[in-house]
Amino acid sequence: MIRALLTIDDLASGNTPALLDYLKEKGITPLLFAIGKAVEENYEEAKYAVSSGLILGNHSYSHPFFSQLTMDEAVREIESCEAVLDELYRDCNTERKYRPFRFPYGDKGGDNKAALQAYLREKGFDKVDDRQLVYPWWDEKGYRKDIDTYWSFDIEEYRIREGSGFTLESVMEKIHDPAPEEGAAMLAEGNRHIILFHAHDDTDKMVPRYYEKIIGHLLESGVEFIPPTFM
Ligand SMILES: [Zn+2]
Repeated sequence: MIRALLTIDDLASGNTPALLDYLKEKGITPLLFAIGKAVEENYEEAKYAVSSGLILGNHSYSHPFFSQLTMDEAVREIESCEAVLDELYRDCNTERKYRPFRFPYGDKGGDNKAALQAYLREKGFDKVDDRQLVYPWWDEKGYRKDIDTYWSFDIEEYRIREGSGFTLESVMEKIHDPAPEEGAAMLAEGNRHIILFHAHDDTDKMVPRYYEKIIGHLLESGVEFIPPTFM
């Protein structure tokens, strides 16, 4: 059995409702991470996500590289997104039970890494349950202790862009790679995953309904999706 938590970054987008409808139809409960600014720009789509009962975590306000920010700037990025999400949940009359966080680009803040982890812990951000992930590198890189939500497999579908040379076929090749450079093999029997995926209208333009093709392929390959749980 291969089990995976599907995490989807960069909400909200124009394709958010169609993407979430597809996942619901397939019985998949993803964990979502929102960019504050993108929520403001696609507010109805963000409301759709919360009203669907899904958890919308914090992915910063403007999606910067955190290693390029001062600690004050980093905290402002996180707090501004928190304010947007608090208001969104209030608007949806929905209690905000969990507050997971993901760094844009997985950039944990460089020199401020330890201070940011302490900040996230102190502010009560929720750590995704990663006890099923038993890769040695997960511990070696410190992910076991970190509060933010990293991943064990990056689908990289965001690289499908005009002129990038990276295509849907490249994504499929990576999914079947038995020894990827980073992370764990997607389809190795017994593996547990936190999958990184995105809600991007630009990807939809390149490959219409890319999520059906990619997630559908994972389902056909025997991946069982599990809902998010927290420590
Ligand atoms: Zn992102």
